[in-house]
Amino acid sequence: MTPTIALFDIDGTLVTCGGAGRRSMTRAFADLGASASCIDFDFGGMTDRAIARRGLRASGRPETDAEIEALIARYLGHLQDELPRSAGFRVLPGVVALLDALRTRPGLALGLGTGNVVRGAETKLAQGGLLGRFAFGGYGCDHEDRAALLAAGAARGAAQLGLSVEACRVIVLGDTPRDVAAAHAIGASCVAVATGTFGVEALREGGPALVVQDLTSPAVHAWFD
Ligand SMILES: [Mg+2]
Repeated sequence: MTPTIALFDIDGTLVTCGGAGRRSMTRAFADLGASASCIDFDFGGMTDRAIARRGLRASGRPETDAEIEALIARYLGHLQDELPRSAGFRVLPGVVALLDALRTRPGLALGLGTGNVVRGAETKLAQGGLLGRFAFGGYGCDHEDRAALLAAGAARGAAQLGLSVEACRVIVLGDTPRDVAAAHAIGASCVAVATGTFGVEALREGGPALVVQDLTSPAVHAWFD
């Protein structure tokens, strides 16, 4: 098979946090004295840094790197508290079986492509028993722009395979139109999954290679053949 790099999004693709991420971000803004209304937008497909920047702007605060880093540090602290008691947290359907099936495929590098910073990603994966499933990733701390962090993840995957990115097929798996657009921006194909806030029809508009209801779909497994 063609050497392949898989980059999995986390929220809405691997797990749903039952609102713990938003509650944690709301608490981080509250620590600054900012109201929850400044983050009254859909986080789907946004990087942590982009969420922080947009919220800081809405609250009239400076959008400096220092402010963004401080806000994310507070968010991560709250996430440690919110996630374990989030009743709605769950690993999404088909995820474990798909990761099991892909783990032993020769020529496949299994990684993350997520807007979460590394520590947030690890916290969420650990909560779902998925920590250690991914050898590398592109993260929200690599870049604020989703396409750029996917490019970083793809480069790490290629390094793991001992190849150039150009010699590899890159497949991005995500749950939002932002994942689809970012995948296309780096020349990757996208498998879009409707387990987040977007349905199949909405995801189809961005022209992903494949759209599925959830990751139990045999079409996803076949996509890696
Ligand atoms: Mg997502």
